[in-house]
Amino acid sequence: MDIRHIAKENAEQFSVKINDVIVGNGDFIIIAGPCSVEGSEMIISTAQHVKEKGAAMLRGGAFKPRTSPYSFQGLKEEGLDLLKTASQKAHIPVVSEVMDPRDVEVVYDYIDMFQIGSRNMQNFALLKEVGKTNKPILLKRGMAATIEDFVMAAEYIAAEGNDRIVLCERGIRTFENLTRNTLDLAAVPILKKLCKLPVIVDPSHGTGIRELVLPMSLAALAVGADGIMVEVHPEPACALSDADQSLSFDDFEALSKRINQTKEHFADIRKGLL
Ligand code: PEP
Ligand code: MN
Repeated sequence: MDIRHIAKENAEQFSVKINDVIVGNGDFIIIAGPCSVEGSEMIISTAQHVKEKGAAMLRGGAFKPRTSPYSFQGLKEEGLDLLKTASQKAHIPVVSEVMDPRDVEVVYDYIDMFQIGSRNMQNFALLKEVGKTNKPILLKRGMAATIEDFVMAAEYIAAEGNDRIVLCERGIRTFENLTRNTLDLAAVPILKKLCKLPVIVDPSHGTGIRELVLPMSLAALAVGADGIMVEVHPEPACALSDADQSLSFDDFEALSKRINQTKEHFADIRKGLL
């Protein structure tokens, strides 16, 4: 596997800085926010809540990769504008997805970190385009990608000069259909052994089931992940996308509290895996 730019050398873990947030320094960070930005009030209240309860970063989709062309496609540039306002109001950096190489320039101005979604993990034109920028990138694992495919996708970005990449395990398609995806937690220590990049876990898309987000988050902590990304909505039942997996504000507070209580408990296991 020729991963000359992102290979782990001398057992050195590389950390990625997003404004004041550092991912990959041994701590466990939380990225939280709605699947989609749906309006001003909901994104501002979510930003303020998750920041207050311990999230390091805000997430929110404006360009949405939906399975059906007739589903809500996101508020696009208007959504990015709302996201930026919320991020500034709550003093929290923001990550949002870019789906098309032609949108990289416009998205750049609104976000602190680009997200490349599962469906675009091997959109090589897009990978090269974000690789030419100087902003950090959250690269999600393709739903049918092997670990090697995943790592090579990151190498595409790094080969363009930008190695500020955080990998995100978000589950893969298997024959199992009682969960939305099969969350491959073993990928976390494997990825961390192979390459220098930080790795986070998305238990929301990884399971599709709200009740599984907390236990899978704690599992991510135990296997040495550098953090999680979770979906949070002020009224999960009314969310325009991914309602079944979105946490309420109370759920998020409980999750964050539980992670803080558990961190110490897993410290030795994590150290052994890092
Ligand atoms: C998302 O994080 O908003 C998303 C669409 O996830 P994925 O690309 O992993 O399906
Ligand atoms: Mn979603």
